[in-house]
Amino acid sequence: MCSCVRRSRALSPALSPALLPRLLLLPPTGYRAAGRGLSTSPRRAAVAGGDSQPLPLPGQARVVICGGGIVGSSVAFHLAKLGWSDVVLLEQGRLGAGTTRLCAGIVSVAKPISIECQMANYSNSLYQGLEEETGVKTGYVKTGSLCLAQNQDRFLSLKRLASRLKVMGISCNIIKPKEVAKLHPLVNIHDLVGALHLPADAVASSPDVNHALAVAAAGHGVQILDRTTVQQVLIEKGQVMAVETDRGSIECEYFVNCAGQWAYELGQGSETKVSVPLHGCEHFYLLTKPLQDPLPPSTPVVIDMDGRMYARPWQGGLLSGGFEKNPKPIFTEGRNQLEIQNMQEDWDHFEPMLSSLLRRMPSVESAEIHQLVNCPESFTPDMRCLMGEIPSVAGYFVLAGMNSSGLAFAGGAGKYLAEWMTYGYPTANVWPLDIKRFGNLQSSRTFLRHRVMEVMPLLYELKVPRWDFQTGRQLRTSPLYDRLDTQGARWMEKHGFERPKYFVPHGKGAEYSPAAHYRFSILKPITWVYIYNIYIYIYIYIYMLFTNLFLCV
Ligand SMILES: Cc1cc2nc3c(=O)[nH]c(=O)nc-3n(C[C@H](O)[C@H](O)[C@H](O)COP(=O)(O)OP(=O)(O)OC[C@H]3O[C@@H](n4cnc5c(N)ncnc54)[C@H](O)[C@@H]3O)c2cc1C
Repeated sequence: MCSCVRRSRALSPALSPALLPRLLLLPPTGYRAAGRGLSTSPRRAAVAGGDSQPLPLPGQARVVICGGGIVGSSVAFHLAKLGWSDVVLLEQGRLGAGTTRLCAGIVSVAKPISIECQMANYSNSLYQGLEEETGVKTGYVKTGSLCLAQNQDRFLSLKRLASRLKVMGISCNIIKPKEVAKLHPLVNIHDLVGALHLPADAVASSPDVNHALAVAAAGHGVQILDRTTVQQVLIEKGQVMAVETDRGSIECEYFVNCAGQWAYELGQGSETKVSVPLHGCEHFYLLTKPLQDPLPPSTPVVIDMDGRMYARPWQGGLLSGGFEKNPKPIFTEGRNQLEIQNMQEDWDHFEPMLSSLLRRMPSVESAEIHQLVNCPESFTPDMRCLMGEIPSVAGYFVLAGMNSSGLAFAGGAGKYLAEWMTYGYPTANVWPLDIKRFGNLQSSRTFLRHRVMEVMPLLYELKVPRWDFQTGRQLRTSPLYDRLDTQGARWMEKHGFERPKYFVPHGKGAEYSPAAHYRFSILKPITWVYIYNIYIYIYIYIYMLFTNLFLCV
């Protein structure tokens, strides 16, 4: 660990009370809409819950949602808004006590594909109005964010992202390093070539947003029952029939698996196994005590993907985490902790992210550390979340595997899943997220464990054209594989199938491959630009020549 950052003597080995702003006020028992007899004040309802008995389990429901994290609560909220009655949400521990509890709270639209940007954009506007709608404080602050570029490739990819966002009507600006310095007092700009400024990005308290969504869902008639564990889903003739819990069964038409990092085990736990390919990895962030000049809450979030780190203001200090090159998958087999505990600190593991933080914000060196948080998050084999109906089981829906963007996605993803269940399809093209893209092949623990170790660092890496995953390969090869391979085939993978991507002629090195240039850069090779320009000039010349000739005649 970098010795320059002072660790506080007051460091608590367990969860910091400051980190659990209102968690202890979350209702430890089921709560319903005011109209059904419980308090209209969400806060009072929450506090009044105490250690009282959980509400009785209904024998029947139309929809049972498993998981009272931000994702399950959002699905419940959106189903209820679309007019579904008879929706039950079950949570094994307390609401929001899973990964949602330790979320860093960043709601950013800077996501790699358009549907993800759309989901994040919707979530942002939903969370902004939630406090007013429910009366529950969500800690929502529109800070804006700065995505930094340390090189031309990154800058180009940010410019491309900016054009996509502008098409969607999301405001953003490409800015110079000097403007970054004006927007953020701590950022060292000496190695930057530019940045993308997203003024509408925000931060919020994830457990509080979770709580507000649950209160709003309950207000629309959803029954929320905590301390109720789903043991298995009963499936007959390819149709969901009922859900078995530790407190009895509920007959239902639809089941929604929103069990976060438990979603895999839950799928495997039923007699008819359901594949939900995700795996947990440890994810770290650091909390500092208030800085000497406390950072205002509206200071923009900094996302330095080349430095693999992010930072946001937190109680006058900083919250800073990142996506390391050597992630640590978690091993959950055989144990299903009721509520995620803060896992062990690992300062050696966090050291590269800490160095990155100090390079980007040197003045943080003198800050006092409050805590290093380590919490597992679920990752999927292709960095996209899992959404939709299981192809072999009618009525079994999944929304899980958020790849560390669960807060940013939950609003939008919950909306699209609810639409999917209501109309048979969502109002946006969620094809890249459809769970049908995976089969049983991608469900083995070994495959997932290896793949998520590759996926997590990729979240902040620049993906060059013709890039492909390296892990979990050669799962399905054609009988011609060996012959093509000896002919110099270079391979790509689709749904476990190996397909030739291109061939490298005999005697030629990798530098002759069409992908060679892109190994290090997404910019076009300069020779291509020259050839293209010459082509354009000749074309214009010939066009003008013929036009003039025609005019003369
Ligand atoms: C350190 C860290 C920082 C993060 N920072 C950000 C960020 O800045 N921005 C962002 O957008 N995302 C962030 N994330 C990701 C985000 O927190 C998660 O993606 C999100 O909270 C996942 O929500 P969830 O509802 O899917 O899972 P969870 O919150 O884990 O909820 C799942 C729930 O299901 C319950 N459950 C499981 N099995 C059963 C069962 N059998 N019966 C009943 N209940 C069951 C669990 O108890 C749990 O409460 C971060 C994650 C981590 C770990």
